[in-house]
Amino acid sequence: MLKKNDDIVLEITGLTSMGSGVGHFEKMAVFVEGAVIGDKLSVHIIKVKSSYAVGIINKIIKPSKHRIPSDCVVSEKCGGCSYRHISYSHELEIKKQGVQDALQRIGGLDVEVEEILSIEKINNYRNKGQYPVGMNSLGQTLIGFYAKRSHRIVDCRNCALAPAEFEAILKTVERWSAIAGVSIYSDENKKGILRHIYLRKAFATKETMVCLVINSETVAKKELLTKMLLEADETIVSVILNINKKDTNVILGEECETVFGKDYIEDILCGLKFRISPLSFYQVNPAGTQLLYSRAKQYAEIDKTKTVLDLYCGAGTIGLSMADSAKEIIGVEIIPQAVENAKENARLNNIENARFFCDDASGAAKRFACEGLKPDVIILDPPRKGCSGDVIDAVVEMNPERVVYVSCDSATLARDCKIFASKGYKTVNATAVDMFPRTTHCETVVLLSQRRPDAHIDIKLDLSEVDVTAAETKATYQEIKDYVLEKHGLKVSTLYISQVKAKCGIIERECYNKGEGKSRVPQCPKEKEEAIMDALRHFRMV
Ligand code: SAH
Repeated sequence: MLKKNDDIVLEITGLTSMGSGVGHFEKMAVFVEGAVIGDKLSVHIIKVKSSYAVGIINKIIKPSKHRIPSDCVVSEKCGGCSYRHISYSHELEIKKQGVQDALQRIGGLDVEVEEILSIEKINNYRNKGQYPVGMNSLGQTLIGFYAKRSHRIVDCRNCALAPAEFEAILKTVERWSAIAGVSIYSDENKKGILRHIYLRKAFATKETMVCLVINSETVAKKELLTKMLLEADETIVSVILNINKKDTNVILGEECETVFGKDYIEDILCGLKFRISPLSFYQVNPAGTQLLYSRAKQYAEIDKTKTVLDLYCGAGTIGLSMADSAKEIIGVEIIPQAVENAKENARLNNIENARFFCDDASGAAKRFACEGLKPDVIILDPPRKGCSGDVIDAVVEMNPERVVYVSCDSATLARDCKIFASKGYKTVNATAVDMFPRTTHCETVVLLSQRRPDAHIDIKLDLSEVDVTAAETKATYQEIKDYVLEKHGLKVSTLYISQVKAKCGIIERECYNKGEGKSRVPQCPKEKEEAIMDALRHFRMV
């Protein structure tokens, strides 16, 4: 039996979705952070539960062929790059397999995930950084990232995933806060002012936004802040204060004060201009986003006759990127600033066939369904928790041909696809898009298509080409009588056969013994009619 503090030799055979390696020791799963599939390790056991154990690496006895040296000094402490010690080609395999496994195991879906899409740029790809600010016990300012599963700040101002220019901005804010006497927020006693430094850079236009999240209404020496920032980085076009006085894990408050320049930045994505406010969601990897959106557009198969409903539309980016190929785009988003951006973005790009609504996706979808809106395609791009049952029900009620579901969490995606499957929507295609290299995160886009209850092929039939009389020659009356007697044990007359044939429209002449002066013509009983029908089907006459 495995015990705490045991030292064991472990071969790593799998990875969890959180990036920990897994091996088996005496049939018990042992999880080891920082392990790679194929590693042979000496592991120190730190926790034993009834069905699993947790260990830490003592020593790498034989490294996996996928293991590479990490090029970041904080990658083992910070919660960001869980895959920095794994070759990128292996990371892509792991991510594709992770999506495949989720769809199969959680969703019970029979779909093969397509080749993973990646821009192959694994550093400096993020256009956004959200850096918590705090103090250590020596009174030094910490600016960086939270450690894994913790609120302890790991100091890191030059994160490899972010633009290199962000480092100078972070240092400038730190200097300014010291000069201006703006205190640093403490997570423990909830006192202090500066909580987060939130930076965004539009890669295409080079515009940079600096947003300080503060635990007060405003701050001192705002002009000095702007002056120092512009000296440090001349691409800064917007300096904003975001007020967040709540004791929560949510980084941004609802209120903003623009200290300098514009209250948004503009970027170019998919050939369109997008205006983005600090509170609006904007994908963090724009080059990866273009791969994602073009696959979503491919799955949507839209044309100028199609109406597209874009639920969870953010600043309207997905829908607007499809607007030139669609009849109409209708977007729904819950954050008012993002909806304002979406409307402005349509105007900026002279797009006239797009409408946006500020609403909860579920409420809006129910309302649209009640109003009888029948979009041809519905795009879903919810937050990690996925769609609520209400949203799925309302989507199904609108009866779209296709649903294109974009997700940053393949587990909730798989769960929702399973629900869609029970309502007649089959997951037909799936693609993983690596928007977040070196981290465990991965985006997925799937196509759900309506499954008809009886699969059939529609064939256009020109009746003039069909030789109806030829059907009559297929079997003689005697052959039909013999078949019915043998198969159904029933004797049928020529009269009955001709009556059934007449009903099916495969003889033009009237029943021969029906006429003036004749007694009442007997009608073929139901049971015999069914037996004759069976014979006609058997001889392919109907
Ligand atoms: N499709 C956009 C945004 C996706 S992120 C893009 O690609 O950029 C998910 C979006 O859903 C966010 O903008 C978030 O504000 C919004 N959202 C979250 N909960 C929502 C809800 N209940 N109803 C509508 N929108 C919601």
